[in-house]
Amino acid sequence: METTRQPRVACAIAICLAAGLMVAVVVGTSLLSLRPRTTDFPAAEPAPPPAPWPGRKPSAAAVEDARYIKARRSMVEEDLRGRNITDTKVLEVMGRIPRHRFVPEDFRDLAYADRPVPIGHGQTISQPYIVALMTQAARPHPESRALDIGTGSGYQAAVLAELCKYVSSIEILEPLAASARERLAALGYKNITVRCGDGYQGWPEKAPFDIIIVAAAPDHVPQPLVEQLAPGGRLVLPVGNFFQELLLIEKQKDGSTRRESLAPVRFVPLRGEAEKGGR
Ligand code: SAH
Repeated sequence: METTRQPRVACAIAICLAAGLMVAVVVGTSLLSLRPRTTDFPAAEPAPPPAPWPGRKPSAAAVEDARYIKARRSMVEEDLRGRNITDTKVLEVMGRIPRHRFVPEDFRDLAYADRPVPIGHGQTISQPYIVALMTQAARPHPESRALDIGTGSGYQAAVLAELCKYVSSIEILEPLAASARERLAALGYKNITVRCGDGYQGWPEKAPFDIIIVAAAPDHVPQPLVEQLAPGGRLVLPVGNFFQELLLIEKQKDGSTRRESLAPVRFVPLRGEAEKGGR
């Protein structure tokens, strides 16, 4: 019995080994076929960025932007649309321009507040409502040639540039003219020219203008500005000393002018020739 059992056991072991080998080959091949082909993921390719997950913290810059976006929206709804600003183009543009980029870092939290904000050298960026009121009264359109007197931060120039063909802007203080020029270029405005000088005489080489907006108050209407208005053109400016009124002066087709008082206002004085009485 012993002699006949041994070959049978050996035979059984051999069959088991062969079956095991076959199973290993089949399993191994199917595992290999599940692996992605190496050409799908070249070794040199950088790992994909981690997928965002709910509750992931946004970056500090994104938080800042969200805060400004919210403040800008409420400025438009409450301080502009909530009053008498109805020009949808003006509302849209002021809802888009990053006003916080026009004020010094220390005052960015106040950029969208319902008040003027210091911009250095004793000057201020005008209250958003006043910028909107003046722009709306000027009735800009895509072919308008605009003159902006008192560049300051460049914010009013930017609002006009979004709505007009081009804007010529004059600022009497050199450091403000230089920083506004730089800021407007960094924001991508190509249709604004800023020059340092006294805006009382306007900019004869660039006249006539369809729109002239003045952001500082003379005690009388500067005649050169009226002369540089195109027929149908509109000049919006504050006039007065302590008590000032915002005026709209419209040049008729026949060259005569029509004057309308828009609101009592408080602007910084127009410096230079205006203080000497002008002509
Ligand atoms: N439009 C500006 C507001 C600036 S306040 C803005 O959006 O930020 C008024 C500006 O008028 C000041 O910068 C002041 O320096 C300037 N200014 C005063 N007298 C001027 C004059 N005669 N010519 C040009 N700019 C003048």
